[in-house]
Amino acid sequence: MRTLCGLYADSMRTLCGLYADSMRTLCGLRIEADSGIAFGRVWCSVRGVQAAASAGVPEGVETKILQATRHSHKDYAFDEAHDPTRPAMYWFQEAVEGLVLFVVFYTQACRWSQCLGCNLPALMSARRVGFRALMAQVDTLLDDPVVAAKASELRKVIVSNNGSVLDQETFSSTALIYLIARLNQHLPHLAVLTLETRVEYVDPPELEFIARALQEGETPTALELAIGFEAFDDQIRNGVFRKGLRLEQFEDLVRTVARYGFRLKCYFMQKPVPQMSDEAGVKDIHAAIDYLSRWAGETGVEINLHLNPTYVAFGTALEASFRRGEYSPPLLVDVARALVRAEGRPITVFAGLSDEGLACPGGSFVRPGDEAWVRRLEALNRTQDYGELRASLCAG
Ligand code: SF4
Repeated sequence: MRTLCGLYADSMRTLCGLYADSMRTLCGLRIEADSGIAFGRVWCSVRGVQAAASAGVPEGVETKILQATRHSHKDYAFDEAHDPTRPAMYWFQEAVEGLVLFVVFYTQACRWSQCLGCNLPALMSARRVGFRALMAQVDTLLDDPVVAAKASELRKVIVSNNGSVLDQETFSSTALIYLIARLNQHLPHLAVLTLETRVEYVDPPELEFIARALQEGETPTALELAIGFEAFDDQIRNGVFRKGLRLEQFEDLVRTVARYGFRLKCYFMQKPVPQMSDEAGVKDIHAAIDYLSRWAGETGVEINLHLNPTYVAFGTALEASFRRGEYSPPLLVDVARALVRAEGRPITVFAGLSDEGLACPGGSFVRPGDEAWVRRLEALNRTQDYGELRASLCAG
């Protein structure tokens, strides 16, 4: 899961002057396991498509999404009330590259939809969102006065649909080309374009084309692929979290990316499942840092490890564990302990400090008194200077 960057929801609003209406809509759609119209809608849809399938009608993307959601014991609804001409949300971040615009386009939800603690698809639609609506979202984004005012400062754009931007079934190819054209036109100093995707949708000829188009802007723009890893431990990643990502798949991707000169961003979650202790969560990220450093060193690929402390996403099995007292989110001091391992390594790191409004009450990793850790981690995001973090850990 990309998951989950920036600041907490309230400060996001202050920082960016941008806030997603979808948060409110989403709250309106929040469903309880034992009742609710929205819950009924999901299950009715599943039953309807199952009947169609048994009658010989081919299964569609919507069916697969609904079935994966149901089989993964998720009880959230999709946000069908969202205005399809507006992105789900967008905000700014400060990273080592400079000012970053993070945009989550509103599309059909993630086709995988199985990952244990993930409710990102709840901000999306179960149904197809066509290319015209998606192109209108691009216009809404770039015509927003706040974005337009910062256009010349923007160094990086991260493109998400809470799923896979390279999945042509859920993210229109026409709209993707249109987005790149408008970025070339309107962001004169764009240095990096990041596309979030699952590995199975990576198609080198398509990326070659995109990378060529990105060279035509005023500033040549590097292409970065952002891949959700979530946990490094194989058994936790695939056995418990159900990520469906083998290390061999990732390693093939690194070799491909190295051939084309693209960059990689790897999303990890600290302590993503109930079975993990705080200490095991730190060790898992240390193992990930060692692994990515080795691949970056051997291939020369620029790799960024994006670490999201896990929040308790509503409507997921993690929420059920949290309610039973079997899970608590990681501490920010442990996030700092995890990240300092990357000092002096050939990778960069970024701590994602937002739950994007998707945590259940009490399920955030930011607790009262954590302000100093938030500030130090944000400083690390900008500077990659570990000095203050290391000194604070020693002092503590
Ligand atoms: S791939 Fe997994 S983590 Fe990513 S959006 Fe889909 S279900 Fe969530």
